[in-house]
Amino acid sequence: MPIDKISDKFSDLGLSSEVLDAVREAGYKNPTPIQLKSIPHLLEGKDILGIAQTGTGKTAGFTLPMIEILAAGRARARMPRSLILEPTRELAAQVAENFSTYGKNHKLTMALLIGGVSFVEQNEKLDRGVDVLIATPGRLLDQFERGRILLADIKLLVVDEADRMLDMGFIPDIEKVMNLLPYTRQTAMFSATMPSEVQRLADSYMVNPIKIEVAPEKIAAETVTQRLYIIDGGKLEKQNTLLHLIKKENVKNAIVFCNRKRDVRTLDQALRKSGLNSQALHGDLPQSIRTDTLEKFRVGDINVLVASDVAARGLDINEMSHVFNYDVPTNADDYIHRIGRTGRAGKRGHAITLSTLEDDKYVQQIEQNIGHKLKKEKIANEHKHIKRIKNQAKNLKGEKKRENKTNKYHNKVNKEKETNIQEKDKDTLGMGDHIPAFLQK
Ligand code: AMP
Repeated sequence: MPIDKISDKFSDLGLSSEVLDAVREAGYKNPTPIQLKSIPHLLEGKDILGIAQTGTGKTAGFTLPMIEILAAGRARARMPRSLILEPTRELAAQVAENFSTYGKNHKLTMALLIGGVSFVEQNEKLDRGVDVLIATPGRLLDQFERGRILLADIKLLVVDEADRMLDMGFIPDIEKVMNLLPYTRQTAMFSATMPSEVQRLADSYMVNPIKIEVAPEKIAAETVTQRLYIIDGGKLEKQNTLLHLIKKENVKNAIVFCNRKRDVRTLDQALRKSGLNSQALHGDLPQSIRTDTLEKFRVGDINVLVASDVAARGLDINEMSHVFNYDVPTNADDYIHRIGRTGRAGKRGHAITLSTLEDDKYVQQIEQNIGHKLKKEKIANEHKHIKRIKNQAKNLKGEKKRENKTNKYHNKVNKEKETNIQEKDKDTLGMGDHIPAFLQK
């Protein structure tokens, strides 16, 4: 089909019946805009530069044509035929999962080279020969330098989330990898934004790339309600407000985002102390724990995930009820990524941001980015109000206790006084038990 006559059907994109079957079984009815635009070009062997974010369906946008391209041919030992570079282990694992789904009707082999996972099994696969290698840049170079893999047979390279690679300092590693690949390979690069470093990478290592841009997810899905709570107190008030909101809202499962790993740890501990079923996810944790935590969250054994951006980027967990920005993200695009974790597939979602007065400039940037003001709520006051009521109740209780004590004391004193008077009267009157009725109480 000519590229300029883009269809809106999967069946018109040039994909084989095996791939179309897998797509149908995945439940996809129509291609997303990035898929419509990238699949035909990739099948034609062109380089593409896709400006698209996670959530747009870009993974299928490059995986489906990749499966077609690799369908003919066979892998040789230690010489993978295609390479997908991902910035984080989670994304690499997720792409591998997608690859298995879309490639279920093909006999393609795949290896995953990510930090924290044992080399042994992956090396065995590589030794036998794999069609697709999905890797993080550091681990890939490590294995290359040990002589475990050869990159001379790579026909198709995908660099995913290039701007995130830049943020994480991976660009020099990517350049090293690019220089090890055959010049004749096909390249697809995806990035949510196009900073100059990413553009330079594209200019240096791609041949006449076709630029494909899909509308960034500026507007969060309409199914996500966004609210902002201003915290004018300190850290404790922020924590208490979060706890109050988690308990007050009907939270089924939530990600709580912090800007710093250190805060992920401390907040997770605080939430658990308060009886919540939470766990932390950040880049410093061993891969086995990260995988285990994600799985528990996916199946509902944990319902609050306290996470940093890097760890949570691109996570595809369906039916998440809430996203909390415990810290306002300092990068306005991260806000869109974060809140895009909820309100998926037509389900309702809630995005709640806690903001201190110092965060004001970041809130303004976010509002500019999404094109509207965030709805301000006064829950912090409500929360304080609740605290005030509690304190008042406490004071009241105290007062009541004090009042009771005083009453008791007065009663006692009065009784004693009475007894004394009676005794005195007895003495004075000298009447003993024979008190005249009118003097008796
Ligand atoms: P991605 O941006 O690749 O991370 O994809 C985001 C989500 O969209 C994943 O849950 C995919 O399974 C889903 N997805 C991808 N393509 C389609 C499609 N054509 N129709 C419906 N869902 C899709």
